[in-house]
Amino acid sequence: MTDFLPKNSVVSVLGAGRSGLAAANLLIKKGHPVFVSDIQKSELKQREIKFLKERGIECEFGRHSSKVLEADLMVVSPGISLEIEIIKKALSLRIPVASELEVAYWFCPGPIVAVTGTNGKSTTTALIGEMFKAAARDHVVAGNIGHAFSSTVLNMTPETTAIVEVSSFQLELIRRFSPHISILLNLAPDHLDRHQNFNDYVAAKLRIFENQTPTDFAIYNAEDPSTCQALDSLNLRAKTFPFHAELRLNNGCYIRQDFVEARLDDTTHSILGINDLTLPGKHNRSNALASALAALLADIPIAGISEALKRFKGLEHRLEFVRSIDGVMFIDDSKATNLDSMLKALHSVEQPLILIAGGKDKGEDYSRLNKSISQKVKKLILMGESASKMADALRNGIDKVHVANLEQAINEARAVAVPGDAILFSPGCASFDMFANYEDRGRQFKTLVNGIE
Ligand code: ADP
Repeated sequence: MTDFLPKNSVVSVLGAGRSGLAAANLLIKKGHPVFVSDIQKSELKQREIKFLKERGIECEFGRHSSKVLEADLMVVSPGISLEIEIIKKALSLRIPVASELEVAYWFCPGPIVAVTGTNGKSTTTALIGEMFKAAARDHVVAGNIGHAFSSTVLNMTPETTAIVEVSSFQLELIRRFSPHISILLNLAPDHLDRHQNFNDYVAAKLRIFENQTPTDFAIYNAEDPSTCQALDSLNLRAKTFPFHAELRLNNGCYIRQDFVEARLDDTTHSILGINDLTLPGKHNRSNALASALAALLADIPIAGISEALKRFKGLEHRLEFVRSIDGVMFIDDSKATNLDSMLKALHSVEQPLILIAGGKDKGEDYSRLNKSISQKVKKLILMGESASKMADALRNGIDKVHVANLEQAINEARAVAVPGDAILFSPGCASFDMFANYEDRGRQFKTLVNGIE
């Protein structure tokens, strides 16, 4: 697998975040001289510097010097734009550029189940992990969720399945990465601040199928028009397995008469009743179908699949119930970092809603929200960098207010809420305008809500 990286090849790693550090550690353990370069000032990266020094890895902080170019391979962390000067230079010097996902793949001894899509990746990856766990099958869960893939491959054997959440940024820089089972959950606008346009973003996502062979499996959402359209023009070599909540499919997974069913090679498997699914919303049914299909194709027994689907309570900050106060429910959906996931949240909560939204703008068209907000939201509370842009794109009839911070947002929401309402925090935007990340944003929301007397 590593013929791409001959012995003693020198590697530079851009970015000393979680995946950059993991890639550097993996490569040095495999005998490659590694140089890590990060644009952030060293004062802010003391923990990372200690990690690298302890492993004898050379590094620089505060700039990308030309030493980065003295390499046979450049590994680029997912947070770094490919438009920066040092990457352009590397490409002009024909230095191969790869993502951490690609590097981990070279050293991965077992089969890979890879999950991508605009929304639902972490939930689906975790669900598949739970299915493997319920069946006591050797596995690791890696990628954006859990540990970086590069750090988990060191503990794998050929019998270990890697269940990996993969982003468009990681896929954009693959070369040979080839999962045995690939899943494409859905495609909606996201990260348009980083990708040139929607087509580029889709093209990056579709690379999950690029190196698969006829003995591999490609799972996709047959209910999502953008996914179907994108796959239409693609010549998939892997065997395809669609999922669809309503249509009965051959070689696929679907819901029939309130039961999750899969039909594989003319055999029908009945998995469980939809009332036993614990996660809320139609979108989570799609995640359940995709997960069940992947697990079936990986030979996980039905009992393990249904047990995991019954037991799984969902991940933090994804439509997470926080608490009820005087008959008003508080829901943390801080992980809704794009409009598609926010819209799914609006349609998953049955109660009349007071919505707290806004954050760092990612170039989306907020007028898409008009219909659902008019139908579902009693009052819209806007905060963060995108608040004015969002307000301008919404109809006059929508009752909205602009606040400065989360505390004010919660106070405004409580002032209008009546018993039977839900206060939903589903920002629909990135968090970096006011928070360290979506976890920080969600935790701050929960702390404030839990602090209400
Ligand atoms: P990702 O890892 O792709 O960001 P998550 O599972 O973390 O996905 O969920 C992110 C957000 O999207 C949450 O707000 C969640 O409620 C919502 N979501 C989960 N699954 C889906 C889906 N299949 N389609 C649309 N939104 C979804």
